[in-house]
Amino acid sequence: MSRERIKRLGLSFLAVLIGLGLTPMLNANATTTPITRSRWPKPRVTYVIKGSRYYQNVYKAAIKSWNAKSRFKFVAGTKAHHQVTLSTSTGTRGAYYHLSGITYMTGYPNGYYTKARVLLLTRNLSRYHYSYSNRIHVAEHELGHVIGLKHSKAKNSVMNKDDRYYGISKADVAAVKLRYQLPVGEL
Ligand SMILES: [Zn+2]
Repeated sequence: MSRERIKRLGLSFLAVLIGLGLTPMLNANATTTPITRSRWPKPRVTYVIKGSRYYQNVYKAAIKSWNAKSRFKFVAGTKAHHQVTLSTSTGTRGAYYHLSGITYMTGYPNGYYTKARVLLLTRNLSRYHYSYSNRIHVAEHELGHVIGLKHSKAKNSVMNKDDRYYGISKADVAAVKLRYQLPVGEL
């Protein structure tokens, strides 16, 4: 009796292990980065960058990689005319608690975005020992939200909210293409 019981337990454990092993692999192949129902009228926005020279370079590197890899283009605007503001904050409390960056999008639900504001939370980034390249990935992540991407569970997606080591993936680029092929509101 007890032998039988042990054997069954052994089998069910094996089944669970196979299940766990396969699921992430299937996800990695099948997951397209999720997209929002809103988007910009065109895959192009104008921006201004505020902050120290160091963070201006972080933002410029993130912009360069989105512009090179995807069809969405971030174009330098002017103080008077821009859609996206990229800046920094030393805040650590309230909504900023344990965040590396935050993005505020303005627009109508299921409609076009009209404005966006991104903050890199410099004090938190330093406290949690983010390297220069980690910080670029945070900026790429926040710019992903600006474009119209949501969080992804795929480990190598820049839109994974629990990772600082991965840049823009093919699934992220594919999601941008999809978002701007589809009319606003449609997923
Ligand atoms: Zn996010």
